[in-house]
Amino acid sequence: RKLHEQLVELKNIRVLCRVKPVLKEDQHEEGQSAVVTTDPNNESSLTVLSKGKDRSFELDKVFQPHATQDEVFQEIEPLVTSCIDGYHVCIFAYGQTGSGKTYTMEQGSVDNPGINQRALKHLFSEIEERKDMWSYTVTVSSVEIYNEVLDLLSKDGEKLDIKINPDGTGQLHVPGLRVIEVRSFQHIKKILATARRNRITFGTQMNQHSSRSHALLCITVQGTDLASGTKTTKMNLVDLAGSERVWKSGAEGERLKEAQNINRSLLALGDVIQALRGRHTHIPFRNSRLTYLLQDSLGKGSKTVMVVQVSALESNVGETLCSLKFAQRVC
Ligand code: ADP
Ligand code: MG
Repeated sequence: RKLHEQLVELKNIRVLCRVKPVLKEDQHEEGQSAVVTTDPNNESSLTVLSKGKDRSFELDKVFQPHATQDEVFQEIEPLVTSCIDGYHVCIFAYGQTGSGKTYTMEQGSVDNPGINQRALKHLFSEIEERKDMWSYTVTVSSVEIYNEVLDLLSKDGEKLDIKINPDGTGQLHVPGLRVIEVRSFQHIKKILATARRNRITFGTQMNQHSSRSHALLCITVQGTDLASGTKTTKMNLVDLAGSERVWKSGAEGERLKEAQNINRSLLALGDVIQALRGRHTHIPFRNSRLTYLLQDSLGKGSKTVMVVQVSALESNVGETLCSLKFAQRVC
């Protein structure tokens, strides 16, 4: 854990890759052999076989296809601790639909939760350990960005407006957004279940569009002690919309517009991360609603992990190469 902390200190943006294992249900068609190989002796590279050629990619860390939720969380845990120590944190899952983004962030089953639940569990256990010195208030909100911004903690998917606070602090201000103060880990489990249920229901109402939307879970941690007063940090956990290039499949009308919107927001996110990586002073947050919403937690000095999800299957090789190119651009 100490070593991890040092690594996180050194590098504020890390790009990890998780390869989805080839599942039985994926093997019913032709072209379903695995073309992505990882090297157990080299944790930072993977190879993709495409058109008879091997192409290698270097990232901060590549998980083996059989990596567990626990192993993935080990890379995230130091960031959660950082959040209580005063850093803003953003964690993203990127990749084509079906590559395992929701599995990594959420995962349905009770006994094998993903990053969201584990992060909150760790947060509450750290808070418990520090309670003699510090008192903390934790609040959560959750939105889905599709053609509109919807409140995932409201009953009926209330539509929200995003504004910059008129008080001049430059802080984001989302009138009507439900912000819930969380008392315990048990309480957050209920809230996460509500957000998940709503994402599925709203998705069905929008013709199964949930794979075409971004889901954000925003956690605010406010810590107070007698000596240093109050400090507030944010942690955003983001299950991004599928990155597949829908227009290549001949999409038209609404579907094409939607695909272009998503693509624009993912590109904008890539641009922001690339700018944060470099010496740029201008960070282009305003180019999409996604980056706009994240701007007060995705700045210089905040800690970011991008988990790029890829499928190992031959039939997905085009999207896999695109996702890995995106990963290298921000890496
Ligand atoms: P996405 O959110 O990127 O569209 P999902 O997370 O819904 O993809 O994953 C698609 C399917 O693959 C789901 O049934 C999920 O349970 C399964 N899956 C994804 N990643 C893994 C994994 N690492 N191990 C086992 N099953 C997985
Ligand atoms: Mg999903």
